[in-house]
Amino acid sequence: MPQYVYFFGSGKADGHKDMKDVLGGKGAGLAEMTNAGLPVPPGFTVSTEVSRIYSEKGELPPEIEREVLEALSRLESMVGQRLGDPDKPLLLSVRSGAKFSMPGMMDTILNLGMNDRTAEGLSRAANDGRFAYDSYRRFIQMFSGVVLGIKSHLFEVILDVVRRSAGVETESELDQDALKEVVLRFKALVKKETGGEFPQDTREQLVMARDAVFKSWNNPRAKEYRRIYHIPDDLGTAVNVQKMVFGNLGPNSATGVGFTRDPATGAKEFFGEFLVNAQGEDVVAGIRTPQPIRELEKVMPEAFHQLSAIAERLERHYKDVQDFEFTIEEGTLYMLQTRAGKRTGPAAVRIAVEMVKEGIITPQEALWRVEPASLSQLLHPIFDPEARRDMQPVAKGIAASPGAASGQVVFDADEAVEWVKSGKRVLLVRNETSPDDVHGMSVAQGILTATGGRTSHAAVVGRQMGKPAVVGCGALDIDYEERRLEVAGQSVSEGEVISIDGATGEVMLAEVRTVPSEVLQVVQGKIPPEASPMYQHFAQVLEWADAERTLGVRANADIPTDAHAAVAFGAEGIGLCRTEHMFFAEDRMPIVESMILSTSVKERRKYLDQLLPYQREDFLGLFRAMNGRPVTIRLLDPPLHEFLPKRENLIREIAELTLKKVRETKKVEKLEKVLARVEQLHEFNPMLGHRGCRLGISHPEITRMQARAIFEAASILAKEGGKAEPEIMIPLVGIVKEFEEQKKIVDEEALAVREREKVTIEYSVGTMLELPRGALIADEIAAQAEFFSFGTNDLTQMTFGFSRDDAGKFLPTYFAMGILDRDPFVSIDVKGVGELVRIAVEKGRRSRPDLKLGTCGEHGGDPDSVRFFHQVGLDYVSCSPYDVPIARLAAARVAMEEQAQKDVSDKRAETAGSAEGVAK
Ligand code: ADP
Ligand code: MG
Ligand code: MG
Repeated sequence: MPQYVYFFGSGKADGHKDMKDVLGGKGAGLAEMTNAGLPVPPGFTVSTEVSRIYSEKGELPPEIEREVLEALSRLESMVGQRLGDPDKPLLLSVRSGAKFSMPGMMDTILNLGMNDRTAEGLSRAANDGRFAYDSYRRFIQMFSGVVLGIKSHLFEVILDVVRRSAGVETESELDQDALKEVVLRFKALVKKETGGEFPQDTREQLVMARDAVFKSWNNPRAKEYRRIYHIPDDLGTAVNVQKMVFGNLGPNSATGVGFTRDPATGAKEFFGEFLVNAQGEDVVAGIRTPQPIRELEKVMPEAFHQLSAIAERLERHYKDVQDFEFTIEEGTLYMLQTRAGKRTGPAAVRIAVEMVKEGIITPQEALWRVEPASLSQLLHPIFDPEARRDMQPVAKGIAASPGAASGQVVFDADEAVEWVKSGKRVLLVRNETSPDDVHGMSVAQGILTATGGRTSHAAVVGRQMGKPAVVGCGALDIDYEERRLEVAGQSVSEGEVISIDGATGEVMLAEVRTVPSEVLQVVQGKIPPEASPMYQHFAQVLEWADAERTLGVRANADIPTDAHAAVAFGAEGIGLCRTEHMFFAEDRMPIVESMILSTSVKERRKYLDQLLPYQREDFLGLFRAMNGRPVTIRLLDPPLHEFLPKRENLIREIAELTLKKVRETKKVEKLEKVLARVEQLHEFNPMLGHRGCRLGISHPEITRMQARAIFEAASILAKEGGKAEPEIMIPLVGIVKEFEEQKKIVDEEALAVREREKVTIEYSVGTMLELPRGALIADEIAAQAEFFSFGTNDLTQMTFGFSRDDAGKFLPTYFAMGILDRDPFVSIDVKGVGELVRIAVEKGRRSRPDLKLGTCGEHGGDPDSVRFFHQVGLDYVSCSPYDVPIARLAAARVAMEEQAQKDVSDKRAETAGSAEGVAK
């Protein structure tokens, strides 16, 4: 017969800490603490299975009802009190608790078992009428809210009226008579709202409360919470029924919460807050301001010392920081809950490293104490927590790139550059950003946009640059003409200072002081590593991670400064150098423009020849920065019109010049020529247009120039005694012939340079796999290509048929309706896009066993995606330099997980083997 109810009390529990599935987190914690001999009030846990049964049937089968009643009798005889007994009333807490903590999502009922008769009995037994009626009024309010669905403010209004007529400041000062009055009025309210009396039958109270907890699993806010945190709906919640202990029995009683270490900084300091003469919910509700835990030592020294000893024990037992709840009843300490404490990124690394030093955990275990994504918090400037404390945000957008930024609002990139030149700090605010804005973004403190998602241009570039970015902040109404923005009924003009918090998405209309990230300063060589404990913790965790991981980690970087940062963060190579960024530089744009406007191949070659030295310098810089590490260079990818001025701007400029008194004929003619070419190159859908290798196929001279620049740069370095091993990547290949054509040009140039320079450069030619067709014919491509790098950004666009710049318009609706539960541009869609990767890996390796496989999409910095890339068998991931630490840690975790599974199955095979032996 299955067990539905698990008892705990008197040093013994049916369950233990590894039974969160059955008992929920809270139930498992109570059982574990009981077994460890800690002072836990006795009680029982009704399993999550019962919640599933209840959801299905709407009631409980009689055998489960019976099991609950048996547990109740056992509890009653253990403590020598009975539910509903007027002489010695047992009072209970009824608490929900799912496998994952869902703070504040479902409710707790305290003091269950109070009615008119037990209130009198309790008052006599405790010789304290104030306490009895305080407990009763709390119970009525909680029960009415959770079970009967009466709005709690109706109770607050009554409390307020009584408090005022009693002439006291806070409700904790109400005396017995006043509290009796409150109870009378509460009961009248219940009668008015429900048409019936407040339930006096204590067994009925228990059944109603228990069922309400089961129902609360499906209340809207619990559902919403699960959706956000990806918690499955079918886990169900357990119900914990526990004897009450009272923190509200007078000056020698208290209740509070504590952490074994500081969750904000990780400092090894007992941390927490408490309230004298209060019940649990008072601490959280904020009616009274709690005192810091250190004060407890003064008022109740004995309980304090017992509590700190227990805290220390709990931490050693769980091998992790614990967040616990306690109550002191007339000097006696009781533990009511314990769980792993949530912590910030900096706290997590510090705690992990220090716990290893203290011998509590191993380096491998330490890697499970740090969430990979939380490492980014160590890299970005942060608001001075003190300055941030009382600042109200006016709006909230998508937190796209963590960090804190304050600056003067500017609405365009050129202006940003001008202002910064004159010594100002600016925040670039735009509806959206495009490659045209990159120069402005690079000088701004941070980027704020009204539209776009986590992978919009502003977000991607923001992260790549390590700049705070808040995107898709719909509350902004930007008027570029008036140079003003409206938000939350307030108007902000250009030049006014605002702040954004890239970790929360919040926008504040004032300057907030920031402090730069220590870790970043060390990486940039501004402070020595010894001077920064935070850096040492960070570096230590990553060193441990490197010992575990098998997946390589590279970075996407286009320029030497990014490459240096990438190496400092531990990148083993460049997985993607986007060469188009080299075309955007100011001194090259005129040549690039002339190259595109050329009407003959001969003319185009002339300009390409002028671009060659620039490109050679670019690659040389990159190769030098990478010092022999592999560098994957992608040939030109975007359509040519992206390098020309915008059509609208040209038309306006021509019109303006034409209207001038002195006609500038020459200039107009030139602009008209540009306009004609722009019109010619115009595309209805550039994403599916003349881009990628299609460009190199129609203009082979571009591919030729780029290949030559790469080989010449590598030759120069080789002659200096350095080393470069370029991996040349042909973008957007869907047809094997496309690849062959482009590879032929690259090989020809390699040969030509070798003959000219008399140096042999090791190189390889591969493709960026980013089209579904490319994945499906991967065996054919791999016969020619030496490596694949999955361009999962484009592969996601092409597989879903979503343009990532437009998806912001409908994805929010998709999430709200549950059509998608994650943004496929953030976390790889394993089912669809991942399947294409799997097919390509399998087919590719079949035709070329030593095919090198990597990925260079934004997904490389997402821990869930990293796990997939490891499992599917890639050799490396490449991500933005700032995400490299995240990828290193995520890769270590998946490798350890795999190892653990292997150990288990090896062991199983071993036992099976020896069993066989015995049978023989
Ligand atoms: P949450 O999951 O929101 O933390 P809990 O079920 O832990 O909710 O309880 C809410 C409050 O009630 C806590 O402050 C807790 O300490 C208090 N509480 C729970 N059970 C008891 C009990 N048996 N005796 C006294 N206080 C309790
Ligand atoms: Mg709690
Ligand atoms: Mg692409």
